[in-house]
Amino acid sequence: MAGRRRKFWGWGFEDQQPPQAEVERTGLAAREQLGFGPAEVERPPRLEELDLPGPRVEAPAALAEICATDPYERALHTYGRAYRDVVRAFRGHFDNPPDVVARPRDEHELEGVLEWCAEAGLAAIPFGGGTSVVGGVEARVSQGAAVSVDMKAMSRVLEVDRESQAARIQAGATGPELERGLKEHGLTLRHYPQSFEFSTLGGWIATRAGGHFATLHTHIDDFVESVRAITPTGAWESRRLPGSGAGPSPDRMLIGSEGILGVITEAWVRVQGAPAHKESAAVLFDSFSDGAGAVRALAQTRLFPTNCRLLDPGEATLTASAPAGTALLVLGFEGSGEVGAAMAQALELCRAAGGRPRERRGDSEGAWREAFLSAPYLRDTLIAVGVLAETFESAITWERFDGFVDAVRGATENALGGEGRVTCRLTHVYPDGAAPYFTVLAPARRGEELDQWEQVKTAASEAIIAAGGSITHHHGVGRDHRRWYDRQRPDPFAAALRAAKAAVDPNGILNPGVLIDP
Ligand SMILES: Cc1cc2nc3c(=O)[nH]c(=O)nc-3n(C[C@H](O)[C@H](O)[C@H](O)COP(=O)(O)OP(=O)(O)OC[C@H]3O[C@@H](n4cnc5c(N)ncnc54)[C@H](O)[C@@H]3O)c2cc1C
Repeated sequence: MAGRRRKFWGWGFEDQQPPQAEVERTGLAAREQLGFGPAEVERPPRLEELDLPGPRVEAPAALAEICATDPYERALHTYGRAYRDVVRAFRGHFDNPPDVVARPRDEHELEGVLEWCAEAGLAAIPFGGGTSVVGGVEARVSQGAAVSVDMKAMSRVLEVDRESQAARIQAGATGPELERGLKEHGLTLRHYPQSFEFSTLGGWIATRAGGHFATLHTHIDDFVESVRAITPTGAWESRRLPGSGAGPSPDRMLIGSEGILGVITEAWVRVQGAPAHKESAAVLFDSFSDGAGAVRALAQTRLFPTNCRLLDPGEATLTASAPAGTALLVLGFEGSGEVGAAMAQALELCRAAGGRPRERRGDSEGAWREAFLSAPYLRDTLIAVGVLAETFESAITWERFDGFVDAVRGATENALGGEGRVTCRLTHVYPDGAAPYFTVLAPARRGEELDQWEQVKTAASEAIIAAGGSITHHHGVGRDHRRWYDRQRPDPFAAALRAAKAAVDPNGILNPGVLIDP
């Protein structure tokens, strides 16, 4: 990454931003395909145009070398990468930038940063790749001044234990960095969230990220053997164990803690050799519901495909060139041994549920994956042409599945007021339920996008909670999901979490407002 700077307002590196003429061409073509008609094309902001409030604090001399206060660093660390983040940044609105960005190179420096924050009464906001979509890294804090604690300088694979097939990796490693480090040992983690390029191991653990495995190892949780974090009251490190029944798990408590209990510095994760065998196939269904029936049968037969993404007709037509009106199941198996028999059995189950396997295996998966990985880049272009583009996800058991998807889709469409479209896919599936993932595409009301999205998000989230789903399956809670997360979790659990935070972070400096009240 040396020498390349990330865009401070959107996805990818600065040198990946297409020329304005291309943005216009692609963006307007996308609008036409979506049926939204032409629109004015806006330009992204330039750094020199930003009017950031000045930093309110200065780092102590001992930390000066690892601290930055220049506009680029502060702008880059102001937001995550949700639609509302990119819209605000695109318009040059950076109201709450962190005052200082600290990049500790080791735990000693990190301890120094936390001590400074505690003494000076500053909020310390752990920052991995800054790809949060729930306001997790935003300095909307009652303290006023805030330090963004960027873990990027701690990004190495430190140790590999071949015998146990595990690796010790620093929290700031991005997906490509940790896979490069593991490849030198002939190993791989194989956890691929869509944000893989920029999100980090520490961020994945802190948010319980979901990867590309649609079954079995759906979340990073399943790969974590032990975790180490620095809290304001000392180091918290769990034992390396393949499993343990010793009380509530110290790993699990850090997994999903979203930076409120400590800054994760490293973890031992379970790794494996690259899969020797892979097979993929695409299956068409007359309806999403038929496809869901097949997916349920697959999960309950314990076949555990690696990929099992069911796209509703709207999404299949848009992203994978499936014939209009058909749902598409993208199916994949991988393993160290042959996977042909499992695929054959899976296709048989799909046929029995009304599915029509496509002849050319792998065909649709390629098209779908390309669209999947380019989506975050395309979103920047869509914003320039005034398209509201955002996603949200949940999870629900099978017996409530159909009603749930209908209710959430209906509430979301209603809030859009008949404009735009709402599509759904299943990203992760379980024997007892599935994770529906919704995409909203609509003509944006220019200048009012935040209110427009707020209405849609509120309606969708209310419907999710009312119908018994989870406010998130893998995007985390952050600041933006608090209202609904608070209703989802049991009250005694909330009290226990507050007490845990008070014990390890007595001054309440770590990511205030995330998961619990400051
Ligand atoms: C285009 C796009 C696609 C995405 N796709 C997926 C996906 O497929 N699956 C998925 O699960 N999520 C996805 N996300 C959401 C996001 O990528 C995940 O939440 C990811 O795990 C965040 O990692 P990060 O390193 O960027 O963390 P950040 O965004 O920097 O931080 C997220 C939260 O974790 C905390 N945190 C970060 N690092 C640490 C640390 N070392 N110690 C303690 N706390 C820390 C932060 O304070 C914050 O609360 C996507 C987001 C975008 C924008």
